[in-house]
Amino acid sequence: MIPTVSRCLGIAALILGSALLACSDDPSVAPPQASSGQTTEKLPNLLLVVVDTLRTDHLTPYGYEVNPTTPVLQQLVEGEQLRVMSGLLAASSWTKPSMATLFTGLAPSEHGVMRLIGKHSKLKDTHTLAAVFKAAGYDTGCVMSNFLLTKRTRSGYDHGFDFYDDSTGTKKDPHRDSTAKEVTDSGIQWLQQRDPQKPWLLVLHYFDPHASFEDHADVDWLDPAYQGWVTGGASTDTLREHEANCSEADQAALAAFYDEEIHAVDRNLGRAIEQLKSSGQWDDTVMIFTADHGEELGERGHIGHTQTLFPELVEIPLMVRVPFAWQGAWHLPEVAGGGYQMTQLYPAMLGVAGIDLPVGRSHQAPPYVVSEVDFEPVRKEHVEKYVQKRLVRSGSLTLIQDLRDGGLQLYDHQKDPMLWAPLGDQHPQLQDMRKLLDEHDWWEAP
Ligand SMILES: [Zn+2]
Repeated sequence: MIPTVSRCLGIAALILGSALLACSDDPSVAPPQASSGQTTEKLPNLLLVVVDTLRTDHLTPYGYEVNPTTPVLQQLVEGEQLRVMSGLLAASSWTKPSMATLFTGLAPSEHGVMRLIGKHSKLKDTHTLAAVFKAAGYDTGCVMSNFLLTKRTRSGYDHGFDFYDDSTGTKKDPHRDSTAKEVTDSGIQWLQQRDPQKPWLLVLHYFDPHASFEDHADVDWLDPAYQGWVTGGASTDTLREHEANCSEADQAALAAFYDEEIHAVDRNLGRAIEQLKSSGQWDDTVMIFTADHGEELGERGHIGHTQTLFPELVEIPLMVRVPFAWQGAWHLPEVAGGGYQMTQLYPAMLGVAGIDLPVGRSHQAPPYVVSEVDFEPVRKEHVEKYVQKRLVRSGSLTLIQDLRDGGLQLYDHQKDPMLWAPLGDQHPQLQDMRKLLDEHDWWEAP
């Protein structure tokens, strides 16, 4: 979507007062700079917290009551320091395409990342979040715990970061050895070493809720009467072996360990926030808390992610903390049909820091919400896991297309939030939804 000049100026006036946004179709336009028209002279710090594999419905602020997974976040919400927003869908049901969208504000068809391997990533050639903040005078840091996004993969996720610590993601067994404690420690250390006069962007990427699901010593949420196959730290091969036949008790046991991992992230994020408070930086810090995708815990015959676009995989949390001085610059408009698209977070984050949008990006909400997956497993024995699906959400309706078997299912996500009961092919709005599906610019295999 290319913004027109008049629309950009209108948005600029709306958000930044007199600021003039870089809004031209000329690709030679210089990298964006911090604009002078924001509501306060001082630039805010930005803490972007991304939790790998975190489904919304296991978080206390979203009403989860089985286990107290997120007391730190809940306290911020109750103290009105953190706003809970609903209806954000991940760009995809697994890490690489979603993280590329979060880091660029672009859809998979534009940033080129969808498959596990392949040289189609355009991250190095685009105005990534970090590159834009760096050009605007920010120190840029990221602690990256996902082994798919390390520097040695050369997929460009580190583009624009002064500091990109992927040491937890390069461990021998990152599924088990990557911990929230290390991510927080590394982030805190970086914050302490830098020039305190400069504003910063810090991305803390936590991996703990990703399989394996570890047993944590400080909480004990497994039903003591449980006698099935689920154990803390069960390998991905074990999960795969049992995923098609999970009893309700197995699902609850998986959820217990999954929740203990979320709790570990919450506790360690709390340490990072305490450090910001004690060093006097919290009052100047915007915090965005989100995820790259969710997780299936055996309820539909799968454990893990990639296989569907159902809510447990694509509904992700969005909690936002904007200090008063920058609230006038925070702009994240809801999509006309309800909800938010992941592409919207990038312009919102630039906007709150008073940074002009690069050419081709817009603060405007897209007309509807989408998610998509095209996941081709590398190992031939997993060929049954090859999945190609597309989702369109508008109003109360969600349409999911399965390109592998030609299936098309319509759901009412307001009446049926987890999408268990398709509405059938006679629904009066099916054709309208189908039209959105047909007109959208989806990722296509190169
Ligand atoms: Zn992920």
